[in-house]
Parts: sequence; C-alpha cells; structure tokens
Amino acid sequence: MSKTFLAIGECMVEMAPSGSGTYVMGFAGDTLNTAWYARKYLGEDWSVSYYTAVGTDQVSNEMLEFLQAADIDISAVRRLEERTLGLYLIQLKDGERSFAYWRSQSAARCLAADRCALDASLDQAGLIYLSGITLAILPASDRTSLLEALRAARRAGAQVAFDPNLRPRLWENAETMRTCVTEAAGVCDFVMPSFEDEITHFGDADPKASAERYLAAGAGMVVVKNGPEEVICARQGNLRAFQPKPVSNIVDTTAAGDSFNAAFLAEYLTSENVEDAVTAGAGLAGRVIQHRGALVDCLEPA
Ligand code: ADP
Repeated sequence: MSKTFLAIGECMVEMAPSGSGTYVMGFAGDTLNTAWYARKYLGEDWSVSYYTAVGTDQVSNEMLEFLQAADIDISAVRRLEERTLGLYLIQLKDGERSFAYWRSQSAARCLAADRCALDASLDQAGLIYLSGITLAILPASDRTSLLEALRAARRAGAQVAFDPNLRPRLWENAETMRTCVTEAAGVCDFVMPSFEDEITHFGDADPKASAERYLAAGAGMVVVKNGPEEVICARQGNLRAFQPKPVSNIVDTTAAGDSFNAAFLAEYLTSENVEDAVTAGAGLAGRVIQHRGALVDCLEPA
C-alpha cells in the first residue's frame, strides 16, 4: 500500500472572536482537522496530502502556506481564478457559540469538477479520507464522479475512509443526504459515524443499528463513536464494543470525532489491531476536548 494519507474536502477561513471586539482569522474544516492530526500521528514514512480547490488570491495562498507549515502536501490542490475560500464567523452570545457561513460559492465546491486532476491525486494515495461534508458541497453530478473515482482508486489498491458527518443544511434535502451517504458507505473500507448524527437523521435505535445499516450498504468496517459511551467496531459477522476512558475537564468538544478518526486510522493502518486503534482514537479525542479549538498540539497523554 502507498504510504500516502489523502484527505479530500473543504478548508474554510474561520473568524473567531478575540474577546475584545475583533476577530482572529484561522483556517478550519472537518477533513483538514483529520489530515492535521493524521500528520501528527503517522510515522515519518507516511506523507499526508490535502485535495481541495482554492482561489488564486492572497487568502487562498495563506491557507496553503498554513497547510504546508503543518507538513501537509498541497501539490495537487486546484487553483481557480474566479473563486475564493468559504468563510464562517463564530459569534458568542451568553457563552453560546453560533456560526454564520459564506460558503455557497466557495472554490472547494469545484474540487471534483476536473476528473483528470481528481484521478491523478487519488492515484498517489494509500488511504483516502473524506466526509459527508465533502459530498454535500458538490454539485450532484460531481458527487457521482467522485464516487466513481473512489471506486477506481479502490480497484487500484487504495483504501477509503468516510465520516458521514451529517449536516442536512448543506444538502438539497435530507432524503438526498441519506441516499448519497448510504451510497458512499458502499464504496468504503471504513465508515466512521457519530451516533448522535445517525440517530437524528436515520432514526437508528442504537449504535449497533447504525453499524449494521452501513455494513448492509457495503462498508468494510464501521466504527460508531458516541461521545463518552462505547465505541462500536463492526465487520460482517463480528461486532465489538470498547469503552473510552472517562475524560474530566472537558473544555470544548470541537474536532472530537475528526481527531478520533485520525488516530484510529493511523494506528489501524500500522497495526491492523482494532482495540489499539480505538485506544489511540479515544485517547487523542479525549485530550483534544480538554483544550479550546479544533487543532490542539496534544500528542502525549496530558
Ligand atoms: P463528534 O465530534 O463527531 O460528535 P463524538 O462526540 O461521538 O464525535 O466523540 C468522538 C470521540 O471523542 C468519542 O468516541 C470519544 O472517544 C471521545 N469523546 C467525546 N466526548 C467525550 C466525553 N464526554 N468523554 C470521553 N470521551 C469523549
């Protein structure tokens, strides 16, 4: 297997309140978070790449510099003159965060529009990682094209990991989201949902039901996260449950699932041991949620 971990998706500009009436600019996105943590967790013999589309303007350049500084390879990223990055603003009211988005015309929506460029980037990958958000932002025909490209990459030996990350507001409607996510699961070696999303949008009775539904859709392995509750790991005919260690002093649960996925996959790709992979995933996520923000340097146990 090629030792390249390739994440595909959208990285946005984040404007976060500084506390003094101004905003601090950063870059964030679910698949980017996973790539960032995978880079920290995988050995030196692995490379980590990000595939997306950005503009040719200054803020797009800054985002690419940010990825490069994190040792994430951006050589396959598409540059589009007529578009730029999506943006979101975090607002605080009485301690509660709310988000406003400007992403409907973002460059990343065109990430799968050039099939040749897409195929060329997938060609290099051993593990391809994407999420339901990656699919949600694409025009319907590009979703089909991306899934075809993933099938071809798999036939050529790559593995595919997918976090459904169900966000109905990004899709045309909830039914399309469910249909497309189910089809995508059938192209995947690893499907890594969070039960809270699955119960809300698929109505599953329990995490085991989520796992069985994705296995029936054709997934190779399903890993269902559920906050502090047991993580379910299932393959056809084999289901195991692992209890994450309790975490105290939880400060901010942003990127819990994204970081779990990175450490789980990094460990599993190396050891093929499910129990060790859950321990790594839950260990990293447990440390991430003890700090504010999505990207936290906390590889060693706190
Ligand atoms: P998401 O961020 O996608 O909603 P979850 O909330 O299900 O993901 O959490 C992902 C993982 O993070 C869990 O499987 C667990 O390992 C860890 N985690 C999240 N919340 C807690 C918590 N309250 N206590 C301990 N571990 C947690």
